[in-house]
Amino acid sequence: MVNKVRGMQDNYMESAERRQGVVARARSLFELYGYREIDTPVIEFTELFRRSTGEFTDIVTKEMYTFEDSKGRSLALRPEGTPTIVRAMVEDGLQNKYGLPLKFYYFGPMFRHERPQKGRLRQHTQMGVEVFGAAGVEADIEVMSLAYRLMVGAGVKDVSLLFNSIGCAACRPAYLGVLVDSLKKKQKDLCDNCRQRLENNPLRVLDCKNESCQTIIKEAPVIKNHLCDACAGNLREVEQGLGALEINCCLEDRLVRGLDYYTRTVFELRGGAMDPDLAQSALGGGGRYDNLVKELGGPDTPAVGFSSGLERVILSLPEAELDNTGGALGVFLVVLQKEHFERVTRLADELRGAGLKTIWDFSTSSLKKQLGRAGKSGAAHAVIIGPEEYAKQEAQLKDLASGEQEKVAWDRLVKRLEG
Ligand SMILES: [Zn+2]
Ligand SMILES: [Zn+2]
Repeated sequence: MVNKVRGMQDNYMESAERRQGVVARARSLFELYGYREIDTPVIEFTELFRRSTGEFTDIVTKEMYTFEDSKGRSLALRPEGTPTIVRAMVEDGLQNKYGLPLKFYYFGPMFRHERPQKGRLRQHTQMGVEVFGAAGVEADIEVMSLAYRLMVGAGVKDVSLLFNSIGCAACRPAYLGVLVDSLKKKQKDLCDNCRQRLENNPLRVLDCKNESCQTIIKEAPVIKNHLCDACAGNLREVEQGLGALEINCCLEDRLVRGLDYYTRTVFELRGGAMDPDLAQSALGGGGRYDNLVKELGGPDTPAVGFSSGLERVILSLPEAELDNTGGALGVFLVVLQKEHFERVTRLADELRGAGLKTIWDFSTSSLKKQLGRAGKSGAAHAVIIGPEEYAKQEAQLKDLASGEQEKVAWDRLVKRLEG
């Protein structure tokens, strides 16, 4: 037999239903905020991510699935959603067609060739939002509060939002100079990755989980003290704005994000960390990226967004939340004789047509066996049709929780169950 590819995951039954549950809640929250859906392709030209996510980021240098098409062009399975959405907006001129600001939400699979481990799949599902054409902090605050409410709404416990500013083109270069000078003094104690990052992506050093790097990071200069007046004022406004909402949040001096395109506000969500393997990693994050639309050939358009990994969110949910499937629903048909199947097919069709969830196994095994299956099916009632009931076009309606049973005519089943 052929097995699934390493780092991939099949989802079925409870696992598929849990995912749908979180997605459904997320979708209604996004709609509540007035965002509209965008769905972009899984395959894009590799250049899109090189130019946006960043030439020197781990995602682009190590983790992207790329291949050549028959014309020799390099294509990639998308590692993240934001660049694809910016590409779609610029390509179709959505800012002209729909006017700004544009507010999108999305769900979809992303692909990263990482070492598979708990909570880190090579195909994972992201859910997120992007806002284009809103320069003020209100947009940052709306996206952050939406992200926070998404986690709370999904059932994650102890959600907190960490935020920071990583400055702008005017103030970040000077800070990076100071940061690199300070880190270089302890270069020999940095991990190999971080020594590499010093050359091409020094901010990422602050993100390193390596213990020896952590000690150095704790003494490194923080950007807060190097922000220009505009960025410092912006950060204060974000802090005040968040403070006015009921959100558990705090300014985290050393928070950075792994992608090149962020400017000013960056944030992460933490919470539900029962599992020590996952305690260090975020449930989601995002920030402002005011230059990306222009860099990808569009008009100068400020933007802010957020994304979160669906699998990571589900892993952080407490057991009770996972089993919260909303109670038993519908009926399970228990038919004892094959010659009754023809008429029961029509009955099942009528019940479903009336909106009643109807499960039927097409079995003629014993009453006891069929009731056993009914009990595990998630249905609230069994509709039992033996020879006697069949003759009178009736059924024994059995409440699978209490065991109570009563005779009901077929044409009254829906009404009886509604009442
Ligand atoms: Zn600045
Ligand atoms: Zn390191």
